[in-house]
Amino acid sequence: MAFPWQEITWVLLDMDGTLLDKHFDDYFWETLVPQEFARRQNLPLEEARQTVFARYRREEGTLNWTDIDFWSRELDLDIPALKESIRHLIEVHPDAEEFLQFLRQKGKKIALVTNAHYKTLDLKMNHTGLLGYFDEVISSFDLGVPKEEVGFWQILKDRLGFSPAHTILVDDNAEVLAAAQHFGLKYLFFKAKSSSQLAPENSPHFPSLLSFHELME
Ligand SMILES: [Mg+2]
Repeated sequence: MAFPWQEITWVLLDMDGTLLDKHFDDYFWETLVPQEFARRQNLPLEEARQTVFARYRREEGTLNWTDIDFWSRELDLDIPALKESIRHLIEVHPDAEEFLQFLRQKGKKIALVTNAHYKTLDLKMNHTGLLGYFDEVISSFDLGVPKEEVGFWQILKDRLGFSPAHTILVDDNAEVLAAAQHFGLKYLFFKAKSSSQLAPENSPHFPSLLSFHELME
């Protein structure tokens, strides 16, 4: 069944994992940062990995998690410079730009809605050239509330003036979709293929998309 696009005014899209290949972030946090931390602290790699991963777990779901300045201090590493050093690994999902063009043709309002820190956001938008597709770019980091909290969606609604019944959100984080659902957002999709290097994972709670083409029929 074709998606009822005539019902939709606003399209809210997550960045990492949804429009962009999450492999960049996974490689950065799971491989490069532990390596650099090991080098800097003069630790065996496995010990460095355990230390760094324990600190990640402590901050999951908080704004610290996406605050690269926090991680620079916490790990005594220059996180923005490290990200910059692998910017060539930033990739747009193969179907993402086509979908953005499709939405433009349909005259939909498009917002990039991300938990990413503005420095990461700038780096990725500069590298991918996607910025021109968006009517609004919202970083939850600037709003002070992560997308996993219901309150974020209220602030966003006030900011954009969208009607929850006429808005679609695509995200690769089920917790984010659950918060948006709780708020009353009607059309929610889980991006099942978030990384080019990982098998897709469906959500038991939300309709899952392997590809944006499923919404373009
Ligand atoms: Mg994401």
